[in-house]
Amino acid sequence: MDKETDPAPWLPGAPLGYRAKPVFAASAHGSAPVLDPSGVTAERLRYEEEQSYYNDLYLLAPVGYFVVAFDSTILQVNLVGADMLGIVRARPGDHRFRTFIAPAFLADFDAFISAALNSPQPMQCLVQMQRTGGEAFQVTMLASADGGGQACRIVLERAEGKLAALERSEERFRRIVHTAEEGIWEIDAVSCTTFVNPRMADMLGYSIEEMLGKPLAIFMDEEGKAVLDHNIEQRQEGAAEHREFKFLHRDGSAVWTTLATNPIFDAAGRYMGALALVTDITGNKASGELVWQQANFDPLTRLPNRHMFMERLRHEIRKAERNDAFLALLFVDLDHFKEVNDRLGHAKGDQVLLEAARRISSCVRGTDMVARLGGDEFTVILAGLELVGSVERVARAMVSLLALPFDLNGEKVHLSASIGIALYPADASSLDVLIEHADQAMYASKNGGRSRFSYYTPALQEAAEARQTIAADLQAAIVAQQFEILYQPIVSLQTGAVHKAEALLRWRHPTRGLLAPAEFIPFAESTGLIVEIGDWVFRQAARQAQRWRSLIDPAFQVSVNKSPLQFRRDVEQYETWLAYLAELGLSSQSMVIEITESVLMDGVEQVIERLRQYRAMGLQVALDDFGTGYSSLSHLKRFDIDFVKIDQSFVATLEDDTGDLALCEAIIVMAHKLGLKVVAEGVETKVQRALLVDAGCDYAQGFMFARPMPAAEFEAMATAARPALPH
Ligand code: C2E
Ligand code: MG
Ligand code: MG
Repeated sequence: MDKETDPAPWLPGAPLGYRAKPVFAASAHGSAPVLDPSGVTAERLRYEEEQSYYNDLYLLAPVGYFVVAFDSTILQVNLVGADMLGIVRARPGDHRFRTFIAPAFLADFDAFISAALNSPQPMQCLVQMQRTGGEAFQVTMLASADGGGQACRIVLERAEGKLAALERSEERFRRIVHTAEEGIWEIDAVSCTTFVNPRMADMLGYSIEEMLGKPLAIFMDEEGKAVLDHNIEQRQEGAAEHREFKFLHRDGSAVWTTLATNPIFDAAGRYMGALALVTDITGNKASGELVWQQANFDPLTRLPNRHMFMERLRHEIRKAERNDAFLALLFVDLDHFKEVNDRLGHAKGDQVLLEAARRISSCVRGTDMVARLGGDEFTVILAGLELVGSVERVARAMVSLLALPFDLNGEKVHLSASIGIALYPADASSLDVLIEHADQAMYASKNGGRSRFSYYTPALQEAAEARQTIAADLQAAIVAQQFEILYQPIVSLQTGAVHKAEALLRWRHPTRGLLAPAEFIPFAESTGLIVEIGDWVFRQAARQAQRWRSLIDPAFQVSVNKSPLQFRRDVEQYETWLAYLAELGLSSQSMVIEITESVLMDGVEQVIERLRQYRAMGLQVALDDFGTGYSSLSHLKRFDIDFVKIDQSFVATLEDDTGDLALCEAIIVMAHKLGLKVVAEGVETKVQRALLVDAGCDYAQGFMFARPMPAAEFEAMATAARPALPH
């Protein structure tokens, strides 16, 4: 508080007519003000009397009382006033009143004092002040000119401002919240816990500290999370909710509650989170739950029973209608169960049923339903489907799992299952008919020799049978080494050199001759055999790359195609591949993996991660058939990709006036900007090649250069003294 550099702005105000000279000077020793010694004695005595009387009043007044000189020096202050400002009453003159005004209020304060000094009446205003040490407080300030015209009298009364009121209500809130019978839970916009009261923490078996900052989702099961996602959407639209809800106790048990939730928005209307009042109703629920369990679940397997199954099927049919989707109903009947039951007794029979229930459930997603209708009859509802192929995969998995021996305390029992499949709406227009048709299809499986699945639809059945034979053939083909790989050169458009080749798979079928991938890859995919076949292709191609690196070019690269399904399932594979490359002493740079755009479309984050792993391993990635899918080039920025292969459909029409040339040029320019090399597929003519060279394309592949050929032929061509490729 520097007196010299902080003059009170109201001080030199000419219109005020006051002199800036204090009547009182603070005594160096005591608190009493010392009078100017020029007064008359009698007057002085009276004055002193009065003064001592007022002194008492003034000293003990419950308000702060100040006499302040025009330069803002505090001349007098009473007890409350000194306490308010945190100053020593004995030395008021050390302080200037103005320095206790909060900076934001200074201008208003100065104007107020000027006005008060010129007013015949005391004036009042609300001001924010700060004590020595910084603590802020609000006061009602009353100011008037001192009778002698030499100073200003100021009375301060603490105002309970908004802040104080808020503090008080907060205090009350805290008390209520801490003693509440209900749990109180506040979350932020991303559903993380920002507040819980002791009751809430206690209800779930945690301490408050353990819950703070934790996502709401960790206190609930999968079903709860689905409800949560849905609710957040609704909440963001402002909806309050009241519902029964299940949380998970720390020990894993269910805590049933009623939940009243209100969304919180900020002043701009942004969703900030929600506040929930949570009442524990686990006790009431337990008895209700038992009744409900008995009505809806099979006591042995704990799977839904017929009643619940019918309810769910009704619900799923309505949903399929609404969403224009389809659902599949599977009837699963164990073969020869009755004999096992009769021979080994009911206890063992129950064990078989339990294990069968477990195996069937393991084949479906959490959102599907497996129910036990009674005896050895199970049903499965697969809802929200897009592809019939996925139904078949599930059915096939169940058939093979149930055909594995059942281990009954050391005793091995063989069973199998017959499955019938009916689809809604394709096979039935109502619930009853759907059930009847699934049942009929199941009998078709029994009649067909058991341990199989049958579709109700004849066409699907035929196709499934064809697939089943092809699948059997494919399996045998791996063992019988009927697969072959052809290699097609990938030519550098700048130099005409061949440093790369694409491995293309063929199946030498014993009766149908040489088959192109289009004729068998879809079956290999739907049966899952593609994973095994793809593995074989990779190893074969790697060996070829190794040989050609020493014979043709040390930087030779072979690319292999990878179907989307393989890409999704190859988690274990790529590690073994890396090991295989290491075993061959081969750099992973020698392999390129070709994927299609559809891979980039699903589960983007996992794809990004997988491509990153490839990159880390040194494998390169080419995006095959570019332009036939949905992805745009700018979309590719997010993925670790090295090559783009322009689909042959664009190359085929380069010479026509279709705009494909402009498109190819644009792809090449963009790809180069992103640091990718471009390969043109299906180049068949010299004109196409010339146009691509002009467009700056890096590599080309096509019949104009060479067709896919056996490895030996490729080798002969590439190592010939004169390059055999036309250019
Ligand atoms: P892709 O990867 O786009 O392979 C290029 C296809 O174009 C090959 O057909 C090739 O023979 C053909 N081709 C090459 N040059 C020309 C040309 O100048 N004109 C025309 N019209 N066609 C040309 P292919 O060998 O029948 O392979 C078809 C598809 O099968 C491949 O398309 C690839 O997606 C897939 N495929 C091939 N081998 C495998 C494999 O080992 N695993 C997997 N998952 N898929 C494979
Ligand atoms: Mg390819
Ligand atoms: Mg292609």
